[in-house]
Amino acid sequence: MSRNLYDLIGLAAGICFILALKGLSSPKSARRGNLIGALGATVATVIVFFYANDGKALHNQNLILAAIAFGVIVGVPAARKVQMTQMPQLVALFNGVGGGAAALVAIVEYLKLGSDATTPVVVATVFTVIVGCVSFSGSIITFLKLQELMTTRPVIFPFGRQIIALTLIGVLASGGWVISSGGTTPLLINGLLSLLFGILFVLPVGGADVPIVISLLNAFTGLTVAASGYVLETTLLIVAGTLVGASGTILTRLMADAMGRSLFGTLFGAFTAKASAATGPADTRPVKSGSADDVAILLNYAQRVVIVPGFGLAVAQAQHTVRELADLLAAKGVEVAYGIHPVAGRMPGHMNVLLAEANVPYEQLVEMEEINPTFPQTDVVLVVGANDVVNPAAKTTPGCPIYGMPILDVALAGNVIFLKRSMRPGFAGIENELLYEPKTTLLFGDAKDSLTKVVSALKAL
Ligand code: NDP
Repeated sequence: MSRNLYDLIGLAAGICFILALKGLSSPKSARRGNLIGALGATVATVIVFFYANDGKALHNQNLILAAIAFGVIVGVPAARKVQMTQMPQLVALFNGVGGGAAALVAIVEYLKLGSDATTPVVVATVFTVIVGCVSFSGSIITFLKLQELMTTRPVIFPFGRQIIALTLIGVLASGGWVISSGGTTPLLINGLLSLLFGILFVLPVGGADVPIVISLLNAFTGLTVAASGYVLETTLLIVAGTLVGASGTILTRLMADAMGRSLFGTLFGAFTAKASAATGPADTRPVKSGSADDVAILLNYAQRVVIVPGFGLAVAQAQHTVRELADLLAAKGVEVAYGIHPVAGRMPGHMNVLLAEANVPYEQLVEMEEINPTFPQTDVVLVVGANDVVNPAAKTTPGCPIYGMPILDVALAGNVIFLKRSMRPGFAGIENELLYEPKTTLLFGDAKDSLTKVVSALKAL
């Protein structure tokens, strides 16, 4: 294949990535956008086999095919079998592996070039290794947190700030060492220190701030891929990496703004947190629990109901049942809206995706800033598997992992009903005082079962 044809097809693949991003900006076109992006990625992979930089056939074809086969054998079943609720972990893992792979590719290319590597290429290699390794080890920690294989709370250790600052100095110094004198050992030291920095950088992040870090690491991976594209002289990698880096950066900013967080505060805030972030003894205060009939009666006589979905809705796969309930209430003349918190669930837009799957009209999904002033005029709030996003501790308990995060002010409504299975806390691992308020009723059980019972009880009224 001639260089011109190769570049032309590469350009088409790049356009596919841009169209994919455009498609992903609306729930209606997201599926199509995803397919277009996958098509672009497939084309970009296949054309490499027909063109190599020096005009000769691609080297090590068998090894490359074996790597692709391995990736397909592991990746396809993993992606097919993964539960919707585990998708964020899978994305974190794929993202980390992408960053790590880009770093490895840059190292291999650097070793191949040896003393022929120009200064800009060495600088790009060091950048790729640092950011790729941080993205890899940081994503592994977010994976472990999301999978609850380790605590989801901030991990704070003595002299944390000093250790992290020293590691960062080590990363920058070893990077400078590679640039000034070259060599494999400094590059490996640089990679190892960057891996350590990635771990230290994510460990203190907890509770509500994890989504911001996931998005930031995603942007990092994009930048790593773009830099490795420069090292490999591959325009398509530069285009794809820049798109991921730019969109990831915009998403990180939007999420940090929506959460009222500064990026610096998110990354280093835990080190200033006091001991109040620690878990206290188990609470034994009584709570008011009700039956499905009690809940149905409360809803039946309400004029306005707001449904607040959270991670538990996704676990229970209750999106269709919640829609059935909302339709039933609307048919009875009750005004119904959904209050959507920007970090409800376990990935950005999680609730929008779930509810769109159940064909909930998009106009009924009301964002936090818009719905909050309406709670005083709301008779009943139905909290379906949400906890942190309605937890008043974000306003009242300085030092707790979600302090400062804007919440849905459901406590301002007439009645609050929680659908959950137990008294266990949410992702941030902290008590929710609202569960003990006199206006709160708890309906214990799996959200889908509880909603099914409430729907039957409501039909019987
Ligand atoms: P939470 O994790 O705070 O709470 C989930 C609630 O759902 C729990 O109270 C749990 O209680 C309940 N639950 C779980 N399974 C079921 C079920 N089958 N039926 C009924 N209830 C169930 O969720 P929120 O959505 O309120 O908050 C999201 C949290 O996740 C925030 O802290 C956010 O920062 C974090 N996060 C968000 C990301 C994002 O991008 N959106 C990414 C990573 C983290 P019980 O066990 O008693 O049933």
